[in-house]
Amino acid sequence: MRYLILSDIHANLTALDAALAAAKGRFDKVLCLGDVVGYGPDPNEVIDRIRELGALVIRGNHDKAGSGIANADDFNPVARNVALWTREKLRPENREWLEKLPTGPSTVEGFSLVHGAFRDEDEYVFAPAQALDGLLDAPSPITFFGHTHLQGGFTLRDNKVGVLHFKPAAGTPSTTLTLEPGSTYLLNPGSVGQPRDGDARAAFAIADVPNNTVEFWRVPYDIKSVQERMEQAGLPEPLILRLSFGR
Ligand code: ZN
Repeated sequence: MRYLILSDIHANLTALDAALAAAKGRFDKVLCLGDVVGYGPDPNEVIDRIRELGALVIRGNHDKAGSGIANADDFNPVARNVALWTREKLRPENREWLEKLPTGPSTVEGFSLVHGAFRDEDEYVFAPAQALDGLLDAPSPITFFGHTHLQGGFTLRDNKVGVLHFKPAAGTPSTTLTLEPGSTYLLNPGSVGQPRDGDARAAFAIADVPNNTVEFWRVPYDIKSVQERMEQAGLPEPLILRLSFGR
């Protein structure tokens, strides 16, 4: 079974469709690590697409705030503004779907999925010291996480934590990691709809676990069209601008 692993789509339909077009024919099932909505202009359209795909989805912090099951008090004012806009915008059946998303961790065919971290779905894992907890807590050798919007990850081997960078070079769509037995991995597919690692291309991963490979992908998409929809919707300017820079 090959899995398309998506995270942090953030209501960006153009980026999601570019990712799906690039991945076409290369996967059997879709997994999503949360933050389907928030920041972007297309919450209903992205939820419709994810539901059509029959994806297995765990919730993220923006899904809780966007559906209204959590208040957005711990968000910065810009993110809070869009969480409230998203709540208004969602069709009732999509809001209900968002409310009912399961909390991670989830386990699929020998690997695990979390939005942020094992102990706290809202925790950011940026540094090796933070990753160590997850690597030690993990019930499986491979865990996929999101939340930071940074493609890459961490590995634990012989009691040493290593940092992994996979970002494919400009003009190259993907780079492949071969999983080594005896190592534990925490892997982030990157953000589909709002990358923050300085590469504006949509990020995702394709995992072929029986063959011990994970491909990390970056695909360009029409950022301008998303920015135009954000402007029309009156979404905050910093969120519009950051898409151009992948920051
Ligand atoms: Zn996010």
